[in-house]
Amino acid sequence: MCKTIIQVKQLHKKYGDFHAVKGISFDVLEGEIFGLLGPNGAGKSTTLEIIETLREKTSGEVWVDGWNLDKSPNEIKKIIGVQLQTSGYYPSLSLVELINLFAGLYNEEIDPMVLLDKVNLRDKAKAKYKEMSGGQKQRFSIATTLINQPKIIFLDEPTTGLDPQARRNLWDLIREIRSQGTTVIITTHYMDEAEVLCDRVAIIDSGNIIALNSPDKLIDELVATGFERPKEVKQANLEDVFIKLTGHTLREA
Ligand code: ADP
Repeated sequence: MCKTIIQVKQLHKKYGDFHAVKGISFDVLEGEIFGLLGPNGAGKSTTLEIIETLREKTSGEVWVDGWNLDKSPNEIKKIIGVQLQTSGYYPSLSLVELINLFAGLYNEEIDPMVLLDKVNLRDKAKAKYKEMSGGQKQRFSIATTLINQPKIIFLDEPTTGLDPQARRNLWDLIREIRSQGTTVIITTHYMDEAEVLCDRVAIIDSGNIIALNSPDKLIDELVATGFERPKEVKQANLEDVFIKLTGHTLREA
């Protein structure tokens, strides 16, 4: 049996009169990649930031690995890894300097090169943060979520704005992190990404969860309603052309 690692019950968030999260409940299982999908403004970031202890909830209950959010937020902080917004990094520090800085904040002793190896950035160890490409910055920001050896990491739109090779490279990295036992919660606007990466997804709309299942089951449910996609006449798409012409290899590595 899979163990539940995050439990959210009847979570509400109001900003003044505006009801942004309207009593949602869901579980995340240990070791899964769980996707939170939904249009802009649906309440995804609000929900994640509440679980991450970064935002106050209005009501409801949250447990993370058995710790209650209201009673033990510091215990929760110790076992989660959260991506900083890219603006949160000092642009003129090198990657090693940044890792040492974060490790100091977490009170962790880690070898920066081991961490950089994990995300394929050993060659950039001495490069300044501002000198990296978008994909490298994303890989680095994922590396920083791993500094405290968390049980769960939260990734908020980690592949937005990346080229096709860099996106695939990041998918491999996320799968690799999960294969080492870390639970991953991810938000994305790319449905192809959610389909290949996530074990289960919750679709949130206007503060409510309107569907929660594996991508395959959600697709089966839609098909069972009689939905039929207009027949594809093309046997490939422009992304296939792009990948065929430019290869799978990451250019920026
Ligand atoms: P998502 O991540 O799905 O795009 P958010 O959780 O960021 O959605 O926002 C949900 C809703 O709550 C949006 O309508 C947003 O404008 C509103 N909201 C988010 N943060 C605040 C805030 N600090 N004050 C007031 N309204 C907010």
